[in-house]
Amino acid sequence: MRGKITHQKSIRRNILLNPGPGTTSQKVKEAMISEDICPREDEFGQLMHIICEGILEIGNAKETHEVGLFVASGTGAMEAALVSAIGEEDKILIITNGAYGLRMEAICKSYGLEYDTAFGFGDFPEPDKVKKVLEKGNFTHLAMIHHETSTGMMNPLEDISHVCAELNVKLIVDAMSSYGAYPLDLQQTSADYIFSSSNKCIQGMAGLSFVIFKKDRLAELKKNQRSFYFDLYSQWENLQKKNQLRFTPPVQVCYAFAEAIKETLQEGVNNRWKRYQANWQVLYDGMKALGFHFYLPDNYQSKILLAIDLNSKPDLDFDDFHDFLYKEQITIYPGVIPESNTFRVAVIGDLYPEDMRLVMEKVRSYFNA
Ligand SMILES: *Cc1c(COP(=O)(O)O)cnc(C)c1O
Repeated sequence: MRGKITHQKSIRRNILLNPGPGTTSQKVKEAMISEDICPREDEFGQLMHIICEGILEIGNAKETHEVGLFVASGTGAMEAALVSAIGEEDKILIITNGAYGLRMEAICKSYGLEYDTAFGFGDFPEPDKVKKVLEKGNFTHLAMIHHETSTGMMNPLEDISHVCAELNVKLIVDAMSSYGAYPLDLQQTSADYIFSSSNKCIQGMAGLSFVIFKKDRLAELKKNQRSFYFDLYSQWENLQKKNQLRFTPPVQVCYAFAEAIKETLQEGVNNRWKRYQANWQVLYDGMKALGFHFYLPDNYQSKILLAIDLNSKPDLDFDDFHDFLYKEQITIYPGVIPESNTFRVAVIGDLYPEDMRLVMEKVRSYFNA
């Protein structure tokens, strides 16, 4: 790829178990070191085009969907999807069974969109229950998180998408911490809007997020131009016409994102999914053997993230444990579950079972000391 220059600096590799930004590959890091270029040049436009096509290819969505890309963390794509999809006469039901579902509620509230919520923190959204709520409320849209990164729950996307199709309700999906790892074929699972970011399961650098949408949603997007910066229609249209974002892109992050997308497609989503599951299993088995309990029952576990109950070890000082591992180049992450004392480990990123075995070795040495 033009733009890239060679350099000698070796970069220390840390094991990030926080749920994104994850550990990146050496090549993704190196892709950031590039020549200066004006992003309005055709040559950079080609890179933007490759990024957009790659995003769609990951979900087998090239034939059926379009994509709009934003310079923002994942929450920017969340905001763009909600404010662009929900029109004046629409009403949305939000599944709020975790912190990210609640974030969607906060966005709807801030724009004055008409919404209602269902399910509490940690509840499994049974498709039959979702159906009953949808039938009662005159909803035009349903918004859900695919993988609830606050609890580690994999919400039943396929079943809920069938419910929505049956009731003619449009489906908005936050696939922030599943897109790129969870085998999802958007030609099989009908989702009208689905969004994610550069720095989770696609394993790129933070700074870009995107909304994929069905081609036949274009007319309503054109009507609902409620936000200036986070306007999905304008952003998509500009990419179509010029291969450019409307406003300045993070040039170097784009080079890294293109490399990360290439690596995702080379590994294949199915293989990445198997690798993440294998990573997760090492942590699950190891922590269980040490006497830890988990927030979720096994059948709801995403195998992308594990929320671990700190009450299983009343004497453990989380900050001290964190600092010990941090010195060993391993980062663990605090929990966000109300009224439960948890911490989290995610297996997102360029990480392998041998990394997880090393993590468990260090964790065991902490408890043996
Ligand atoms: C990470 C994440 C987001 C976005 O968070 P940012 O900090 O804005 O990148 C949104 N939803 C889910 C489910 C996430 O895991």
